[in-house]
Amino acid sequence: MAQQVADRRDQDFVIWEQLNCEDILKHETYHEFNKKTCDMILTEARALALKELLPLMAEGDEQGVRFDAGVVKVPESFHRVYKLIQEGEWNNLSVPEEMGGQGAPAFIGAAAAEYFLGANWALYCYTTMGNGTAHIINLFGTPEQKGKYVKKLTAAEWGGTMLLTESDAGSDVGALTTTAVRNSDGSFSLTGNKIFITNGEHDLAENIIHPVLARIEGDPPGTKGISLFLVPKYFVNDDGSLGERNDIVCSGIEEKHGIHASATCSMTLGSKSQCIGYLLGEECQGMKIMFNMINHARMSTGLQGMAYASAAYLLAVNYARERIQGRDLENFADHSAPSVSIIRHPDVRRNLLWMKSYVDGMRSFFYYMTRCGSQALITDSAEEQEKYGDLFSMLTPIVKDYLAVKGHEVCIQAIQVFGGAGYTRDYLVEQYARDCKIASIYEGTSGIQAMDLLARKIGTKKGLVFMNFLGEIHQTASQAKAVEGLNDLGIRVENTANRLGEVAMHIGQMAMSENFKVGFAHALPFLYAMGDTIMAWMLLWRAVVASEKLAGKPKKKDVAFYEGQIKTAEFFIQTELPLTSGKMDAIQGGCAAAIEISDEGFGGL
Ligand SMILES: Cc1cc2nc3c(=O)[nH]c(=O)nc-3n(C[C@H](O)[C@H](O)[C@H](O)COP(=O)(O)OP(=O)(O)OC[C@H]3O[C@@H](n4cnc5c(N)ncnc54)[C@H](O)[C@@H]3O)c2cc1C
Repeated sequence: MAQQVADRRDQDFVIWEQLNCEDILKHETYHEFNKKTCDMILTEARALALKELLPLMAEGDEQGVRFDAGVVKVPESFHRVYKLIQEGEWNNLSVPEEMGGQGAPAFIGAAAAEYFLGANWALYCYTTMGNGTAHIINLFGTPEQKGKYVKKLTAAEWGGTMLLTESDAGSDVGALTTTAVRNSDGSFSLTGNKIFITNGEHDLAENIIHPVLARIEGDPPGTKGISLFLVPKYFVNDDGSLGERNDIVCSGIEEKHGIHASATCSMTLGSKSQCIGYLLGEECQGMKIMFNMINHARMSTGLQGMAYASAAYLLAVNYARERIQGRDLENFADHSAPSVSIIRHPDVRRNLLWMKSYVDGMRSFFYYMTRCGSQALITDSAEEQEKYGDLFSMLTPIVKDYLAVKGHEVCIQAIQVFGGAGYTRDYLVEQYARDCKIASIYEGTSGIQAMDLLARKIGTKKGLVFMNFLGEIHQTASQAKAVEGLNDLGIRVENTANRLGEVAMHIGQMAMSENFKVGFAHALPFLYAMGDTIMAWMLLWRAVVASEKLAGKPKKKDVAFYEGQIKTAEFFIQTELPLTSGKMDAIQGGCAAAIEISDEGFGGL
C-alpha cells in the first residue's frame, strides 16, 4: 500500500542509517528499548494514526469546536479516540518515566508524533499539551505541586495550556497586564484577560492546569517583572480529588483560517475576584521558567510543519501516479498516443522533487536535533554536553520557523499537483495548507525567531557554536568529496557553508553597528539562508549514506530508494542552493530600503 502521512521507509533510513540512533539506545537510560521494540512501537503508532485519527481529520475541520456559556465542546468523535491514545499511553511516549511517561528516546517520540500530527494534529494536541505543563512543574515545582499535578498531566487525565498572550501583549509578552496579588495563605489572586489560548477550555479532560504569566503588584515592568502561576480550572484537594471551580473561565473561541478542531480560547481570570494561582518557582522568574516550555513547544511546532508537509507530499505523489492527463512530452505531436499519469510530466516531476527535497531535508534536520538533544542529556562528558546543548539551542529558531514556513510552502505546492481538485475539500491537501499556516505564527512569529537567531544565538560564545556548526557541515562535505559522483555536490555545499560563515559575520557586525536596523531587516532572509544550507547538508549526508549502501549491493527494493536519495540531493544542491547564494548576496548587499522608506512611502493612504 502507498505510504500515508509519513514515509516509514524514509523514517527508518534517517533514524537507523543516517543518524545511527542505535547508538543512543545503548545508553542505560533507554535499556528497555532496542531497535526491535522501536520498530514495533512505530508500526503500532502508524496503525493507530491511520485507522483512528486520520478519518476524523476532515470531520474535525468541518465541525470545529462549539462554545456555549463558557463550555467548549470538541467534535463528539474525538472522545473515543482521545481515550484510545490515553489508554495506549501514546501521548507520553518520550516523557521520562519518573514523570509518568514511557521514557522512550526523543527520536521515537518524534517518529510516532509525525504520524499523529499528520493524521490529526488538533486531536493529538489535546492529549499532549499537558506534557509541557508537567515539564515545568517537574523542573520548578515544590514537592507538593509535583505530586499533585505532574502524573495527572502526563496521563492526559488533565489538560495543560500556556497563558502568555493578551490583546496588547503578543510578541511583546513583557507588556502583559494580568496582575497577581498576594494572599495571606501564600497563594495569589489573579486578574486579567488572556487571548488565543490553545485548549484553554474543552470537554476532553476532567481538569485543566493553566500556567499563567502575570505580574505581582509592584514588580518592575517588562519581562523581568513577570512571574508564573499555576491556575487549576478545578482546585485539587490534598488527597488528589477535585474541589471547587476556580474563577478562570473561557469567554469565547476564535473562528480561524485552519486548525478548526483546536479550541483557541479567550480566558478571563478573576471576573469574580476569586481566581487563585500558585506561584511556580521564584518570583520574577516567570519568563525564564516559561522558556523551558516554549522551547519544547517550538520544536513541536517545527515538527507540526514537517508532518503536514510530509502528509501533503505523500498525497500529491500518490495522486500524480494515478491522475491521467495529457500525453507524454515525447509524444506531443502524436494525437493517437495514450494519455499518461501526470507524474510523467517534467513540471510535475520538478514540483514533486522540490517537495520531496524539503520533506526529506526537514525530516533529517528534525531528527538530527532530537539526536543532539539526547546526546546532551545522556553523555558523561561535560564538553559533549555543552557542544550538543549549545547546538540544539542555536538551531531551535530555525527548526521552529524554517520547518513551519517550508512545511506550509510544501502544502501549497501539493495543492498545485492536484490542480482544481486540490482547491476543493475533496482532498486533505487544502486542509493541510490551512492548518499549517499557524506554525509560523504561534510560539513566536517568523520575525521573532529571526531576531532571536541574530541577536542571541549566532553570537553565542563569541561565535564558537556557529563555527562548530559549520564544522559539522564541512565534515559531511569532506565525506561527499571522497565519494564518486558526489564530489561536485560536496564542493558546492562546502562553498555554501563558507559563504554562510562570511554572511553571518557580516550580518552580526551590521546588527551591532549604527546600521543595526538594516541588519535586522535582513534577519529573516538570513534564517532562511541558514535553513537552506542545513537542507543541503542533510541531503548531501543522505546521499553519502545512500552511496555507501548502493556500493554494498542492497536488496532490489532498496535500490530505487537509495538512488532517489542521490537524485534528491543533486536536485536541491544544483537548483535550490543557487537561490540561497542570491539570498546571501542580498544580505551582504545590505539594502537599506526597508528602513529608509518613509511610513507614508508604503502608500495606501
Ligand atoms: C491559533 C492560535 C493559537 C495560539 N495559542 C496560544 C497559546 O496557547 N498561548 C498563548 O499564550 N498564545 C497563543 N497564541 C498567540 C500567539 O503566540 C501570538 O499570536 C503570536 O505570538 C503573535 O502575537 P500577536 O498575534 O499579538 O501579533 P503581534 O505581536 O501584534 O505581531 C504582528 C506582526 O508584527 C511582528 N512583530 C511584532 N513585534 C515585533 C518586533 N519586536 N520585531 C519584529 N517584528 C515584530 C510579528 O512578527 C508579526 O508579524 C496563539 C495564536 C493563535 C492564532
